[in-house]
Amino acid sequence: MTTSDELAKRRAAEALAIRTSLNRQRGEQRANTKGGEGTVAYVTPEKCIGCDQCTIVCDDDAIELYKVEMASQFIKVESNRKAKIIRDACTGCRLCVLACPTDAITMIDL
Ligand code: SF4
Ligand code: SF4
Repeated sequence: MTTSDELAKRRAAEALAIRTSLNRQRGEQRANTKGGEGTVAYVTPEKCIGCDQCTIVCDDDAIELYKVEMASQFIKVESNRKAKIIRDACTGCRLCVLACPTDAITMIDL
């Protein structure tokens, strides 16, 4: 029978493996995403779900959320939110690209 100590060790090993894998994937994604001077983030509104993750990671206050009407009349909420980039404040650091769960943000040339 598995003891709680053994289970805790197995969970810790699994957590480490998952974290290592995620960090490797993030590293690859970051290496493959252009950024830096001369680039700026851009949000594709159709892909944005207003989750606020990008504003949390942006250290430069370069992202704002604005309200839009829901596309479907059958969903009864007052407003939906979308992110938009303040181009002058964006430093091209790419953090928002890595944080966005829906791949709504891309880096474009200035
Ligand atoms: S993280 Fe992506 S989906 Fe979430 S608000 Fe920002 S752009 Fe929209
Ligand atoms: S690229 Fe960096 S500075 Fe620009 S909006 Fe994204 S997180 Fe903010």
